[in-house]
Amino acid sequence: MTVAISGGGPAGLMLGLLLARQGIEVTVLEKHEDFLHDFRGDTIHPATMELLDQLGLHDRFHKIPYGKFQDVGFGKDLQIGSLTELGLRYPFVAIAPQWDFLNLIAEEAQRYPGFTLKMRAEVVDPLPEGGVRYRDRDGEHELRADLTVACDGRDSLLRARAGLPVRNIGAPFDVAWFRLPRRDPEVEEFYYRVAPYKWIVGFDRRTYIQLAYVFDKNRREKLITDGIGAFRDGVARAVPEIADRVALLRSCKEDVSFLDVQVNRAIRWYGKGLLLIGDTAHAMSPMGGVGVNYAIQDAVGAANILCDALKSGGPMPEHLLRAVQKRREPPMAVMQRRLVEPALRGEVANVPRMATLMRRVHPVRRALMRLLAVGLRKENIR
Ligand SMILES: Cc1cc2nc3c(=O)[nH]c(=O)nc-3n(C[C@H](O)[C@H](O)[C@H](O)COP(=O)(O)OP(=O)(O)OC[C@H]3O[C@@H](n4cnc5c(N)ncnc54)[C@H](O)[C@@H]3O)c2cc1C
Repeated sequence: MTVAISGGGPAGLMLGLLLARQGIEVTVLEKHEDFLHDFRGDTIHPATMELLDQLGLHDRFHKIPYGKFQDVGFGKDLQIGSLTELGLRYPFVAIAPQWDFLNLIAEEAQRYPGFTLKMRAEVVDPLPEGGVRYRDRDGEHELRADLTVACDGRDSLLRARAGLPVRNIGAPFDVAWFRLPRRDPEVEEFYYRVAPYKWIVGFDRRTYIQLAYVFDKNRREKLITDGIGAFRDGVARAVPEIADRVALLRSCKEDVSFLDVQVNRAIRWYGKGLLLIGDTAHAMSPMGGVGVNYAIQDAVGAANILCDALKSGGPMPEHLLRAVQKRREPPMAVMQRRLVEPALRGEVANVPRMATLMRRVHPVRRALMRLLAVGLRKENIR
């Protein structure tokens, strides 16, 4: 059987690698010409690092220069606990540039003869007989496949064309991403600041700090019209340690990247010869930074369930596609319901109270950290 995967993000590339390792012919189509998109999910959780070990990618992954954090909470003053309490092989979250991570997976996949990666190849239509039509520099082409996997992200074309409806959970906030130089040799750790109407999260990217300015969706227009002066003041007031550098932000257009946050899930993750995984099946909020890890776990779960049928050939039975949703939906829904939805509903003012409660009640603290580090259902590569 041949498999067409639309989208070379974490879900699509990992699935491509896992299928190619099993001798299955698989083509991944990615519309961009490289993986160098800035401000994407960059957090690699303990469960994903264990999967990389299972793939023999330990040494190559740990050569990527990454930052890390172990403490879970809302900054130093509002700590809930530490991942070191859980006895995991990797008791930390690595903050690795997504392009390095994707390049690693793509390079590994290319060692297998059945694997093809086409960059700058945009899927434009599903084919009625199975597979997709895509466009590249040379025009339009058809790629016939027995199974098509839509990994084309939260605005998935294939999901829309298949008419698979999405339940919108909604996100009351958006994120403005920006970066500032890191003071060397000053150590700037991961931090989290809660200020009226905004949260600011900083990630240590070794040569710079990447900052997420999380704000009420309704204030987006105002934030832009108020201009860069007001933006800089807001950041400087919330995080005085970086007030000396905010002047480096030249304008909202040039130096700030506004992202529309969505949280949703598809009601059905499959159609005839079609499967949705990753953000296509469920857009996760940046809260907890688990999007990449859930996308990867979906790919592992799907490969484990589908490999035998793919190897034996013939049309993909619908019950197996349903089995993928049945396996992967509950852990994702728990994450959305237990962590994301309450946080989205909650007000900034409730954060300190929530953090204190979680810190003091030991089983709640451990359960929450485990949910974050490994999720409810840990996948292992077969
Ligand atoms: C503001 C923000 C911050 C985030 N921060 C984090 C974080 O810190 N940690 C974390 O784990 N997650 C984070 N996430 C979520 C994370 O980025 C996603 O959950 C994760 O990337 C999902 O992987 P995916 O492979 O399913 O989809 P994507 O990463 O969205 O990949 C989809 C791919 O498909 C390609 N594509 C789209 N359409 C087509 C087409 N028609 N033809 C061919 N290719 C196509 C795209 O170019 C893309 O490469 C964040 C999300 C947002 C919005």
